Amino acid sequence: MLRTAKISELRKIIKEERQRGKTIALVPSMGYLHRGHLTLIEKAKETGAFVVVSIFVNPLQFGPNEDYARYPRDLERDAQLVEGCGVDLLFHPSVEEMYPRPMVTFVEVTQLDKVLCGANRPGHFRGVTTVVSKLFHIVQPDIAFFGQKDYQQYLIIRRMVSDLNLPIEVRGVPIVREKDGLALSSRNVFLSPEQRQEALVLSRSLNEAAELIQQGKRSARDIEDFIRNAIMRDSQGVIDYVEVRDAEDLSEVTEINRQVLIALAVKFGPTRLIDNIVVEVETNV
Ligand code: AMP
Repeated sequence: MLRTAKISELRKIIKEERQRGKTIALVPSMGYLHRGHLTLIEKAKETGAFVVVSIFVNPLQFGPNEDYARYPRDLERDAQLVEGCGVDLLFHPSVEEMYPRPMVTFVEVTQLDKVLCGANRPGHFRGVTTVVSKLFHIVQPDIAFFGQKDYQQYLIIRRMVSDLNLPIEVRGVPIVREKDGLALSSRNVFLSPEQRQEALVLSRSLNEAAELIQQGKRSARDIEDFIRNAIMRDSQGVIDYVEVRDAEDLSEVTEINRQVLIALAVKFGPTRLIDNIVVEVETNV
């Protein structure tokens, strides 16, 4: 596996691969890799492309009171993991390499970035879309892989690519979970055993809510209340949001009569977890 922290070196490598006729696939990440990330990498490998994994904890997407400093990092462990997956190139730039001077240029996907995770994390998605744009320009991938655990991020990136006519195919990968349902996240390491146990209410209540919809419940408010009540009853988690939204454009939903996203963010101590489920409803009944 090749690895570099330098943009110029990466560009040389990519140019050579392109000259050999290879397509390029990119899996962007912030590292501290787990099976969720590795699934994205597997999907990238399956395309037969030259697979680039980037590891960069992007300061631009963290708010002043968020966990940038304490975000878990272990580059050597990550390098071993990605090498084991057959990744071709690991790109792990420093903050100075990515942001040699203060940025005055940003990429912003408006509207979609104001709801759900964007409502209480102002500037977060602007940081994400700006760094992903930079990575897209640096790596120039044909295909890029994003997890649907960060469903809003996935939609925002798709929209950015479409609005800006970027010649990149964005592929979404379903959420990878622990056997007991907990969505894999680099932040799970911060959970105490009790919090980890309590956090199971997230996937459990999402699944039960999906079941209620399948049984005919159509009120988005009732579904949100059902999940909120379960979280408050079964855990000490502090709810940031629980919302039913249109799965295509994140618009508000009152009556569930199309494909919807049920998304939530809940804090367990200082650790903020997100989870979601996409529910299809029969529209012809
Ligand atoms: P991160 O390192 O947290 O920025 O994540 C890098 C990529 O992995 C993003 O596209 C995430 O959506 C994706 N990802 C993280 N956790 C999971 C998971 N449990 N299942 C699927 N994709 C995930």
